[in-house]
Amino acid sequence: MGKRKSKRKPPPKQKRVEALSLVFPCPFCSHDRSCEVKIDRKANVGTIECRMCLETYSTPIHYLSEPIDVYNSWIDACEEQNRD
Ligand SMILES: [Zn+2]
Repeated sequence: MGKRKSKRKPPPKQKRVEALSLVFPCPFCSHDRSCEVKIDRKANVGTIECRMCLETYSTPIHYLSEPIDVYNSWIDACEEQNRD
């Protein structure tokens, strides 16, 4: 029975926002790093907005979704619209 040195519980899941990019190039106005992703974990909605051309997109997310997933579904949605 070893004595534990620390009673501290491990911290809750670290937010990785700093490691992950939250800004992405805009497919509409082609500005680099102009689109910012916001993740609403309560509503399970991811929103991305371009601060240059004000284009926005939101998509349902799940608890594993990351900003890049929101961005990727935006790109997918854009490509689908361009298909016709
Ligand atoms: Zn834009």
